[in-house]
Amino acid sequence: MSGHAGMRRARVAIDGPAGSGKSTVARRLAERLGYVLVDTGALYRTVALAAQRGGLAWSDAEAVAALARRLVEARGIVVARGDLDPSVGGSGVRVTLEGDDVSLAIRAPEMSVGASRVSAIPAVRQALLVVQRQAGAAGGVVLEGRDIGTVVFPDAEVKFFLTASPEVRARRRWEELSARGAGVSLEDTLADVVERDRADTERPVAPLRKADDAIEIDSSESSADEVIERMARLVEDRVARLAQG
Ligand code: C5P
Repeated sequence: MSGHAGMRRARVAIDGPAGSGKSTVARRLAERLGYVLVDTGALYRTVALAAQRGGLAWSDAEAVAALARRLVEARGIVVARGDLDPSVGGSGVRVTLEGDDVSLAIRAPEMSVGASRVSAIPAVRQALLVVQRQAGAAGGVVLEGRDIGTVVFPDAEVKFFLTASPEVRARRRWEELSARGAGVSLEDTLADVVERDRADTERPVAPLRKADDAIEIDSSESSADEVIERMARLVEDRVARLAQG
């Protein structure tokens, strides 16, 4: 060990648009490295679900922000490692909302929309920032989201920006939804993916954007195995270099 104690366990940021393969890659990369997975989208999804259950409109910024703050303060959202079948969508984490298991409920397509809406509220982002920073503080984590490398951990030891063409991302999303029995068309899924990206990219606060120092990986033509292998090597190299000081 050199003076960089703790650096052996890096913070790995994985940002990118919906359907880029982020969830699968993040989950398996964390497993392979022996790191903890932090699925930050699950937090936004859970706030959206809590708002809906509380009868709040996602557009009611003040009420949704107050709800998010209350949930954070009361530790009402707990995200734990899970073993959910990847076909349900997302990273497989177990999520409880005030004790109620909402792991599946937050993966409904409606909650993708809800998450995108509530995530555009600055005070909601602010409330969830605290949780995300706590979750990643000790290192040894893979954090998956939209603004990890730019806002949550601008000093993360390794940053990835995972992309794929809109067509590839729509197809993946559609296959995932179809496997779950959702009767949606590929065309609608593509429109959905494009719209969510637009909203995430154009929002004024913490828009989806590649950090300047992030490594961009296009997964359009690669298998998840190939992408994970490449990322794992990059992380291991970086950690080895940091350990040397
Ligand atoms: O990654 P996932 O599809 O679960 O994210 C759902 C939505 O939550 C995204 O479309 C985005 O609007 C929002 N989000 C965000 N910042 C993050 C993670 C997710 O704004 N770090």
